[in-house]
Amino acid sequence: MGSPIFILGEDAQRTTGRDAQQSNIAAGKAVAESVRTTLGPRGMDKMLVDASGTVVITNDGATILEEMDIEHPAAQMLVEVAETQEDAVGDGTTTASVLAGQLLVRAEELLSQDVHPTTVAEGYARARDIALDAIDELVIDGDVDDETLQQVARTSMTGKGTGHLSAEALAEYVVRAIRAVEDEEGVNRDDVRVHTQVGASSGATELVEGVVVDAEAMRDEMSRRVDDATVAVLDAKIEPRETSTDVEYNITDVRQLDEAIAAEEAELGAYADALIEAGIDVLVATKDVDDRVAAQLVRAGVVAFEDVSSADARAIATATGSSMLGDVRDIDADDLGFAESVRVESYGDDDLVFVEGGADAKSVTLFVRGGTEHVVDELERALGDALDVATVTITDGGVVPGAGMTEMRVANAVRDAAAGVEGRGQLAVEAFADALEVIPRTLAENMGMDPIDALVDLRAANESGSAGVVSEGETGIIADPVERGIVDPAAVKREAIESATEAATMIVRIDDVIAAE
Ligand code: ADP
Ligand code: MG
Repeated sequence: MGSPIFILGEDAQRTTGRDAQQSNIAAGKAVAESVRTTLGPRGMDKMLVDASGTVVITNDGATILEEMDIEHPAAQMLVEVAETQEDAVGDGTTTASVLAGQLLVRAEELLSQDVHPTTVAEGYARARDIALDAIDELVIDGDVDDETLQQVARTSMTGKGTGHLSAEALAEYVVRAIRAVEDEEGVNRDDVRVHTQVGASSGATELVEGVVVDAEAMRDEMSRRVDDATVAVLDAKIEPRETSTDVEYNITDVRQLDEAIAAEEAELGAYADALIEAGIDVLVATKDVDDRVAAQLVRAGVVAFEDVSSADARAIATATGSSMLGDVRDIDADDLGFAESVRVESYGDDDLVFVEGGADAKSVTLFVRGGTEHVVDELERALGDALDVATVTITDGGVVPGAGMTEMRVANAVRDAAAGVEGRGQLAVEAFADALEVIPRTLAENMGMDPIDALVDLRAANESGSAGVVSEGETGIIADPVERGIVDPAAVKREAIESATEAATMIVRIDDVIAAE
């Protein structure tokens, strides 16, 4: 009687109550803190070096957190906020992380005043709903025209390393690309691809009306350009069937060897004939193609590419309207696709294949040039964000003012509504409003302004008009962001508030951490 009962393994670690909360909150805050300085047009970049020495230089919140190799479970939840944000809307990852961190800071203050974690969580949920309504009110009236799309794309790229090309010029490409893949049903975002190629200044970036892939023709004799091309895409290899373990050639004399070789050649010949008889001009294969088949294709004037990545092959299939064939012998007229032209261009040591004017889907490729790998990588990320924001602006409800104006206005709305909330929950709603101001405050800080003065001025300016913390030259000014074309998609702001609230409340509610050995 009275002997203790052990339910956990000897090495399990357990932290409970305020200790658990404090350590989780501290971890979450640390993550948010690590991306804070990258927020906004004057945000700084980070250089991340992994164990193998690979270097990534970026300003992108999601990329930073992904590369950081974070292990603490609560900190990991903030990383997930950034991931969710990236997947859902493609931008606003730093905003979401910084906001989640600030919600934790405020929550900690409430907990230390003995407000119950559930009250904090409920208050935050209430505040989130008010905030989402307030965002709807801030959506800028009018059609989503090219001008708006350009503004939203440009805003998302400001402060990113875009090389010699201005965010302005890139935004134009982004809008052209998105418009090209838009139809009555929406935007086929996946039909816009970004292909990066090192070796020229970023000014050489262009929009290609088609698909660009890394591939080299199998033989030098193959033509470098085919017009009105019939295309087959093969997701298999073309090689003689391998000798399986239960079939064994017992070659005892030369005649038998000749027979074996002849059988193999006949088999390969049949593959080549199937392709040639189908009338193809171009073969794109995801795996190896036997050289003897290539030799026959050369004679028939067919251009063949082997070992093309699956993603690239699928993009060509989609654009040209061909199916991904599993076996050449099943080839059928329905499986073939068409393109106005297929051409091979050399860039330094690399060959690139341009498949333009595909018959089926309107696919476009932003062909991005840059002096170094780091430049093109960061350009690719910036363009990815810009394409995403332009897409959600069209599909998901327009734009709201940027430069911290939306957060400031939403904070005001939440604070006004707090008065109507009973009991201690009111404190949590107010804390949520305060937390939102971290965005304009951080933007100001990163622009080298005094954050307290900036917030005071911003609050005052929003009483009579519209104002945000707008970057100008080396510093920032309190000015109307909309007049300057600084706008963000409403969907990005909504998602940031939702995912930040979710992560913060989840962390606050935990009061017991049991870690197995
Ligand atoms: P995120 O990962 O959250 O998208 P960014 O570093 O891209 O982080 O910064 C986005 C924030 O910067 C948005 O709030 C946006 O409105 C703001 N912003 C963009 N351009 C400007 C500008 N010229 N002046 C002030 N704020 C800007
Ligand atoms: Mg951004």
